[in-house]
Amino acid sequence: MTKTVSILLPIPADRPYTYSVPEGLDLLPGDFVTVPLGPREVAAVVWEAPEGGADKVSVKKLREVVARFDCPPLAEEMRRFVEWVANYTLSAPGMVLRMVLRVKGGLDPLTPIEGWIYSGQEPERITPARAQVLELAREGMAWSKSGLAHAAGVSSAVVTGLIKQGTLNRVEIPQPAVVALPRVDYVAAELNADQSEAADKLRQSVAKKEFSVTLIDGVTGSGKTEVYFEAIAACLEQGRQVLILLPEIALTSAFLKRFEARFGAPPAEWHSDISPKMREKTWRQVAEGQVRVVAGARSSLFLPFQDLGLIIVDEEHEQAYKQQDRVFYNARDMAVVRGHLGKATVVLASATPSIESRVNGDQGRYQYLRLEERFGGAQLPDIGLVDMRKYPPPRGKFLSPVLTREIAKTLERKEQVLLFLNRRGYAPLTLCRVCGHRFQCNNCSTWLVEHRFRKQLQCHHCGHHEASPEACPECGTLDHLVACGPGVERVGEEILELFPDARTIVLSSDMAGGVKQMRLELEAIAKGEADIVIGTQLVAKGHNFPLMTLVGVVDADLGLAHGDLRASERTFQLLSQVTGRAGRAGGKSLGLLQSYQPEHPVLQAICSGDREAFYEREIAARKGAALPPFGRLAGIIISADNRQQAEIHAKALRRTAPMLEGVNVLGPAEAPLSMIRGRYRFRILVQAQRNIDLQNWVRGWFAVAPKERGGVRVQVDIDPQSFM
Ligand code: ADP
Ligand code: ZN
Repeated sequence: MTKTVSILLPIPADRPYTYSVPEGLDLLPGDFVTVPLGPREVAAVVWEAPEGGADKVSVKKLREVVARFDCPPLAEEMRRFVEWVANYTLSAPGMVLRMVLRVKGGLDPLTPIEGWIYSGQEPERITPARAQVLELAREGMAWSKSGLAHAAGVSSAVVTGLIKQGTLNRVEIPQPAVVALPRVDYVAAELNADQSEAADKLRQSVAKKEFSVTLIDGVTGSGKTEVYFEAIAACLEQGRQVLILLPEIALTSAFLKRFEARFGAPPAEWHSDISPKMREKTWRQVAEGQVRVVAGARSSLFLPFQDLGLIIVDEEHEQAYKQQDRVFYNARDMAVVRGHLGKATVVLASATPSIESRVNGDQGRYQYLRLEERFGGAQLPDIGLVDMRKYPPPRGKFLSPVLTREIAKTLERKEQVLLFLNRRGYAPLTLCRVCGHRFQCNNCSTWLVEHRFRKQLQCHHCGHHEASPEACPECGTLDHLVACGPGVERVGEEILELFPDARTIVLSSDMAGGVKQMRLELEAIAKGEADIVIGTQLVAKGHNFPLMTLVGVVDADLGLAHGDLRASERTFQLLSQVTGRAGRAGGKSLGLLQSYQPEHPVLQAICSGDREAFYEREIAARKGAALPPFGRLAGIIISADNRQQAEIHAKALRRTAPMLEGVNVLGPAEAPLSMIRGRYRFRILVQAQRNIDLQNWVRGWFAVAPKERGGVRVQVDIDPQSFM
């Protein structure tokens, strides 16, 4: 009898494959293995046999497992998590597993490093330097050469000499941990009464070692981070691992430092900006349980934790948690699932919770903790609206005199100003004044954005860029191209004219020098080395700038123009976050919102500081329209290289949608972004009542839907965040 085993491969297959097991190899679910796949060999994971037994493959066709990796197996809760995410997002389980297996090198044990240990044989001659080394070596520990020399305060030549004498023997020592162990009571903060109360509740949740979700809803600067640090301490005391999800990890050096100040060591980082070598080490040490705390981007949910006891989702409302390609998942929601499967405590923190989480808090599904005041009596900023119809900027400019007056006053007080505009580059649109030609991306249905500093026109969707032309490509007229509308660079130019002596920094994600430079700039700003900061949402999030007392929002109407389901929510969140940058160190501060529609309820809610008014209205509106979380949505995106093909397929797909009471299918309609990277896009929106198993319904639909032919692609986005 040939022994067989089910193996899940990192490919878009909907179930595990069957392989034969070579003589002498014992495999259990969770084991990482190498298996042949076509002409290749791939890393995969031994899985439970699917329901109804493994696929029957004739023994002749059966291929054999090549080897098992020397790696701790993937925990059962992680296997169930992979299946759960696949099921929920309507993805192949193998494609979810792929997110676990991204780091091939981590599957092999880390190569040990060379170490030296006392052999018992004394050298022929003892010098004072040698004596110093010997004193340490005799303690019996293995040292790296440089480590020993450094500790003994001698040059490494001394150590080399002792090696030659046979006094030190070569041994292999394991690679050091990527981060030191956090120390639970390194420097604990003294919490105020509200914070202590919240921290106690969190500690109690952690102590139960059961699944629970807590929403910490606290104004900016109330100390949410300090509070969840206590939950981390509690979890570390239990010996379990901790994951902290952050939306903009690459920019959170301040967070890492803060963690280190509290626990004596930084957390391990996990995001796209760490080196391959470091990734391997981190993955491996998470799997071995050596790394206790990871702070990372959404992908860190798929790290092979052995015993994850606590997951923190900071700024839980952030859109950055939603992955919008391949497997469309929301890390916030999947963190809750992960916590459920692994009996972990989940903490969602935000100053502006998502409507979903807020409703869960109100309805008691989540423990709901509020922190209503800033720490240390710091006041929230006063918020004012600048009616741009009454106080318009000078011709061709974008800042109202009302705002520039406040900037001048703030500079006089030697305090900092933040001007926020969520538009990178110089101008969002360039056109020819003579023939009206507009510069558009060839691959996408978007305008090219002028980046004057780089002398380029760029597409923000596909990355296409071209040199800024001098003549219009349509009519050939020279020097008649005009920039329409502002981007941060253009506001920077306006500020330079108005306040030539101020130290001004323009910050956006495409600045030269990348993430490293950005970290430096943010630190410099925090230290007061800039007077005026002009930035996109990158600067709006989570940073602490003690001297900032004026925040001006250049275009508060920008997000509202989208008109989609989440436009109000997002605008509310973004503007609250941005204005929340002001006055964090106490004293009076001001937020000014420039708007052409100051009567808009979202702006009114922010201006009056009445956030409850916003939540009440928005929740009632969602309820009335049976929109999330009171109803369910799925976006279906149909794309093809050819517009007609995409449209025909979208219509054919729509026609096969099964009728079911409580499910409403809208579209297909051309997507607002009708072309991206050369692919034409159509959208169908499915709206379902809450009690309907939407995934099941979609599965049934796709089983009878026409096959995708000729480069047509259909993607499903459950709980869509974007409708573009
Ligand atoms: P949030 O995460 O709610 O925006 P933070 O945790 O970042 O708030 O706290 C805001 C500021 O107040 C930080 O600089 C933090 O160090 C300080 N702070 C908050 N709570 C305390 C405390 N109990 N002791 C000392 N400093 C605190
Ligand atoms: Zn493009």
